[in-house]
Amino acid sequence: MKRIIFATGNENKMKEVRMILKGLPYEILSMKEAGIFADIIEDGKTFEENAEIKAKAIMNMTGDIVMADDSGLEVDYLDKAPGIYSARFLGEDTSYHIKNQYIMDKLEKAQGEERSARFVCAVACAFPDGHVETVRGTIEGQIGYEEKGENGFGYDPIFYVPSYGCTTAQMSPEQKNEISHRGKALRMMREKIEKCSAEMCKDPGRDGL
Ligand code: IMP
Repeated sequence: MKRIIFATGNENKMKEVRMILKGLPYEILSMKEAGIFADIIEDGKTFEENAEIKAKAIMNMTGDIVMADDSGLEVDYLDKAPGIYSARFLGEDTSYHIKNQYIMDKLEKAQGEERSARFVCAVACAFPDGHVETVRGTIEGQIGYEEKGENGFGYDPIFYVPSYGCTTAQMSPEQKNEISHRGKALRMMREKIEKCSAEMCKDPGRDGL
């Protein structure tokens, strides 16, 4: 069976990836499972660029189909910060409790719609023939007034989803995956791969998949 490597060292992400890509005619491997240890510098200016940088770098090393993602939180009141710097915001080792409180303090004067924010996830898939497909998934919400919920990670306790009446940290993992930026982007990429596979069956001479 052909393989797809997902360029992450995060096991929780891998679980979600496996769940969503289940049934595709590819073996899905993490970098560790594929025996790849690489520290890739993400110096892109957008989520898409960073995802593509990672996917292409690993594809060039292995010759396999490689998928990678890049995600983060955009707060409109803060000109879309922390954006692509979400993990590094206020320092990589700073606790999310501190990062979350900092964001809420900055939004002290913002009310209702002014607190709009979104999680963004770009997923890129680099193919051995050199072409790259990229998709973006988002989930819209608002920055809450206090941290709520114990599930999830990162900015989840302050990411309030009005249509659900709770934060993403108050959702079960399954519920979050159904509506999350990453879930949406991965399902879009799954569709693209299925389509490419079907085209390949019609035109077996085409290289790539
Ligand atoms: P990465 O794309 O895995 O490097 O994630 C970038 C950063 O964005 C994470 O470290 C979090 O700070 C933030 N982030 C991305 N997705 C989520 C999410 O679903 N919940 C909370 N924070 C997230």
